[in-house]
Amino acid sequence: MPKILILGGTTESAVLAKYLAADDGFVTITSLAGRTRNPATVNGAMRQGGFGGIGGFVDYLLAVNIDAVVDATHPFAEQISNNAVDACIQTKTPLIRLTRVPWVANSDDHWTDVSSVIEAAESLPLNARTFVTTGRQELAPFLSRRDLWNLVRVIDPLDEIIEPSQGVVITGRGPFSVKHEIAIFRKYKINWLVSKNSGGAASYAKIEAARSLAIPVMMVGRAGPTHRPVNECETIEQVFAWLEKLFN
Ligand code: NAP
Repeated sequence: MPKILILGGTTESAVLAKYLAADDGFVTITSLAGRTRNPATVNGAMRQGGFGGIGGFVDYLLAVNIDAVVDATHPFAEQISNNAVDACIQTKTPLIRLTRVPWVANSDDHWTDVSSVIEAAESLPLNARTFVTTGRQELAPFLSRRDLWNLVRVIDPLDEIIEPSQGVVITGRGPFSVKHEIAIFRKYKINWLVSKNSGGAASYAKIEAARSLAIPVMMVGRAGPTHRPVNECETIEQVFAWLEKLFN
């Protein structure tokens, strides 16, 4: 049976693993970076932790006899996606990337488009009360602005302590409802949302909540063409069709 490596860490990767588990024609291994302490369970096998660069990735593909790779990582996870391309070229392993379509602002949205998290932090107005949803690894630019008050939402508690004058950390694993997100904006008197343009449905509720409260959004865009060229698709059904064509 073909052995499929799913590069995960996203809602889509879990749905894909579930989809393929329901088909007895494939064996799946979902690979996670290992950033989350108690990751949600996935259908099929799971492994955690980096491969050790391109060389380690190549070794893994050969040692485990992977027949195809589906890159279903987050659109902002650039390094692993680029490594996957190089490792798959070296091992001649078929690869497809499942890419979420970016969100597009509608006429009721108030977005400021920026190209990095650093630019997002620099562009916020003085004394803004922000809801920062760009991830635990990129908090420094917000915390270095002493005038901001930041609501930080992460999956696992942070190791560092944020002074109350600089904000508060809440934990939670999405997806969240629009009602839940509106309650958060109100409870913490948020007047700016900071978000990556991740696309997809799982984290869109905060964008809808901001829209309904007329709260502006500092939207971090995708880096663009730094990704190596790769076979891409936008839906789980397209991944499935690609696998079926490859192996049946
Ligand atoms: P990254 O910068 O692209 O990757 C850094 C390194 O982490 C990679 O070189 C690789 O280490 C390891 N790695 C990343 N994803 C991996 C995976 N699925 N399986 C095995 N190793 C992996 O990644 P990132 O932006 O830190 O994201 C890490 C994970 O979190 C991704 O799987 C992604 O789907 C998920 N995620 C990211 C974001 C985001 O905003 N970046 C948001 C939500 C979820 P080696 O070089 O040692 O192989």
